[in-house]
Amino acid sequence: MTMRIGQGYDVHRLVEGRPLVLGGVEIPHTLGLAGHSDADVAIHALCDALLGAAGLGDIGRHFPDTDVQFENIDSRLLLRDVMRKLHREGWRLGNADLTIIAQAPRLAAHIPLMQERLAADMDIEPAQVNIKATTTEKLGFCGREEGIAAMAVVLLESGTAS
Ligand code: MG
Repeated sequence: MTMRIGQGYDVHRLVEGRPLVLGGVEIPHTLGLAGHSDADVAIHALCDALLGAAGLGDIGRHFPDTDVQFENIDSRLLLRDVMRKLHREGWRLGNADLTIIAQAPRLAAHIPLMQERLAADMDIEPAQVNIKATTTEKLGFCGREEGIAAMAVVLLESGTAS
C-alpha cells in the first residue's frame, strides 16, 4: 500500500455583506468571507491538502479565480470535483484533519454538521474527518477579526491494505 500526506493553508478576508460559510455550513455572523467563490476557507485548505497529497498541484490551478464559472460557487462542489480527480488516480482518503483559526464567531456548535457534510462530499465516514477551531488570543489578523485562516492535513492511500 502506498501512502501520501498533504497539507493545505488558506486565508480569506472578513467583510460586511457576505455570508460566512465554513466547512460547507452557513454560520450566522455579522461578517462573511470575501472571495471569488463562496470563500469557504476550510474547504479550500482541504482541497489544497488533497491535491498536494496526490501531487496534483493546487486549487488555483484546477479552479482559477479568473474563471466566471467559479464565481460564488459552493466550495462543496469543488471538493467533490477534487475527490473525483483523486479517485480517478486510484487514491482513497484515509483521514483529514482541519484547523479553522477564527477569533469569532464561536464554531464548536457547528462542527458536527461540517464534519457530516465534508464526510459526505469526500465519501468517507464522519469519524475520518476531524475539525478543530481555535482563536489566536486576539493576536494578528485573525485575532483582529480581519480574516479567517484554515489549515488541513490529509492522508491518501492507494493499493490493497494487507
Ligand atoms: Mg481560498
